[in-house]
Amino acid sequence: MKTIQHKFVKFIPEVIEEGILYISIEYCTAIHKCVCGCGNEVVTPLSPADWEITFNGKTVSLDPSIGNWSFECQSHYFITRSKIRFARRWKEWEIKEGRKEDSENKEKYFKKKRD
Ligand SMILES: [Zn+2]
Repeated sequence: MKTIQHKFVKFIPEVIEEGILYISIEYCTAIHKCVCGCGNEVVTPLSPADWEITFNGKTVSLDPSIGNWSFECQSHYFITRSKIRFARRWKEWEIKEGRKEDSENKEKYFKKKRD
């Protein structure tokens, strides 16, 4: 099974190496190159409305899954305990539903924040 290494960094480096998940706690963001090898950089903001990172001292997990719908490769995978598990591609309507849900979650989150 494919694995990904992780690197805790203060700043996101200019050159992103393949197979490494760079995590900046300071900027609440993580970045890695799409694991399919297409070379696209995937930015995953870390927040209650975006991605959640789990570090168990050895391996990292990102939740939810990563769906690169805006890339040509359309790859979809999970990073669980530094292992990459490919998921099936979503159908068009699922992507739309997923996006809708995502923006609804965001709305709730930001509303909560303002109260
Ligand atoms: Zn890709």
